[in-house]
Amino acid sequence: MGSEERKIPYLLDFYPLQEEEYTRIHPFYKHLKEGRLTTTKCGVCGEILWQPRVVCPHCNAEEMDWVDLPKEGEIHAFTAVLAGAPKGMEDEVPFVVGIVKLRGTDISVLARIDDAEYADLKIGQAVKMRVKMLDDGRAWFRFTPVDAG
Ligand SMILES: [Zn+2]
Repeated sequence: MGSEERKIPYLLDFYPLQEEEYTRIHPFYKHLKEGRLTTTKCGVCGEILWQPRVVCPHCNAEEMDWVDLPKEGEIHAFTAVLAGAPKGMEDEVPFVVGIVKLRGTDISVLARIDDAEYADLKIGQAVKMRVKMLDDGRAWFRFTPVDAG
């Protein structure tokens, strides 16, 4: 992706630059484009870290392995964004943002919940990850209710 393809100034852009030249967690985005939700696991103390890290906050090691995370979980908390959306998302208001506890883990991730109205959601609602591809080739993750298909 060249910078000329970005429509929003970098500092206002919700989505991070994802290529190897910009970030040391570039494998996260490569995996995401493959449909995988991954993170880093410390190669020394074994802690699974979220978000992906390049240094372990527990033991300061820099040896990291990439591990797959469950792509399904339950909504732990959620809210509706009615105003003040990030640049590029203004036309999508209102939308739902939630904290999703990934199934079988202690990991909670913050993400948009698509294909659902705020009033229709409940705490504990089962959701699954889906990859949101941007026009410029970048990828991000969102969740959608399992019963929404
Ligand atoms: Zn560690």
